[in-house]
Amino acid sequence: MPRLAYHEFTNFTYFRGRVALSSILKAMGIGKGDEVALQAFTCIAVPEAVLSTEAKPVYVDIEHDGFNMEPGDLLEKITRKTRAVIIQHTYGIPADVEAIKEVADKYGIPLIEDCCHTLSSTFDGRTVGSFGVASFYSFEWGKPLVVGVGGCATVNDKDFFEALEQQYGDLDAPSAFRSSRIKIQYLISRLLYRPVFYWRLRDLFHFLSLLGVIEGNYNPDLDIGDFALKMPLDRKRLLIKKLDRVSSRDQRALSITDQYRTRILSDRFKHPELSEDCDVVFVRYPLITDLKSEVLSRARKARIEVADWFATPIHPLEENEWTKVRYEKGACPVAEKMARRIITLPVHETVTDRYVDRAVDFLNDIN
Ligand SMILES: *Cc1c(COP(=O)(O)O)cnc(C)c1O
Repeated sequence: MPRLAYHEFTNFTYFRGRVALSSILKAMGIGKGDEVALQAFTCIAVPEAVLSTEAKPVYVDIEHDGFNMEPGDLLEKITRKTRAVIIQHTYGIPADVEAIKEVADKYGIPLIEDCCHTLSSTFDGRTVGSFGVASFYSFEWGKPLVVGVGGCATVNDKDFFEALEQQYGDLDAPSAFRSSRIKIQYLISRLLYRPVFYWRLRDLFHFLSLLGVIEGNYNPDLDIGDFALKMPLDRKRLLIKKLDRVSSRDQRALSITDQYRTRILSDRFKHPELSEDCDVVFVRYPLITDLKSEVLSRARKARIEVADWFATPIHPLEENEWTKVRYEKGACPVAEKMARRIITLPVHETVTDRYVDRAVDFLNDIN
């Protein structure tokens, strides 16, 4: 199946990626008493969407030294109540779609793909987002295409398209106040965001989110009203423009990734193993290290952009908050361990070659 035509990304546009997922689940008729399987080593957006339908999130562990769902553990966690499986292509690395599909098909459970980290990676020559009944994308800070805040859903099944269309008709536009706030945030971040300012902007962003002055990513308490909102119209127009530029964004990301892969040689870092069946366009480039906290604190001082996500199995929830999203400590030990060992590097368009040199030197100096 060829890559989706760009206009297909704008049939169903939502306030956030998690709203797209919530709408997909609701259009599938999923609700109270149902279970939805998803991987741990994810962000709060995903279980929040499941909880917004009153279904129960059931966490599946990830592959050893990998970032995506472990098909064997999925098999263990499926019950009579499982109504959907969400496949996440973490960092843009395609999940083992074939094996997961085999498990889900055996029980007739529909697949939904979380493509928030990539629009373009392929598995067996097919673009991610073409394997399940439906897929969802996010366009907030840190994602491959940024419009401020926003998400969309794509559909591969004619009957489901109609169900989602009906569901979509019930949604509202965000208020003028929130729409302009998102636009202003977007413009400011465009103006300021460079890898060397990463740490300072991150601190500022967290501070302003706590004050509630800006649209943050993580509202500790589920705001159910947000799950009834579409993408603001001006963001949708910007998205249409940006979709035209996906291939140039991808080319740049591939070239930066290539430099990280060939030039970071310190044995303190393990590069991700990539299957021959996949072409990967990363949202950020992950490295596995036992020196995570040391690397992060040195990176802050050296003004090198190193992100910590996912810092917990349900990022960014700390252990005492896990029960809020029905995650029980120990349920997914591999995900818990990976969250303590992962760092990620930027591949976005403001990363210059000179900056890559600095980042590579910084990491190679760690021993
Ligand atoms: C960002 C992200 C989402 C969706 O985030 P929104 O803030 O709701 O747009 C979903 N899944 C993953 C893995 C993400 O990183």
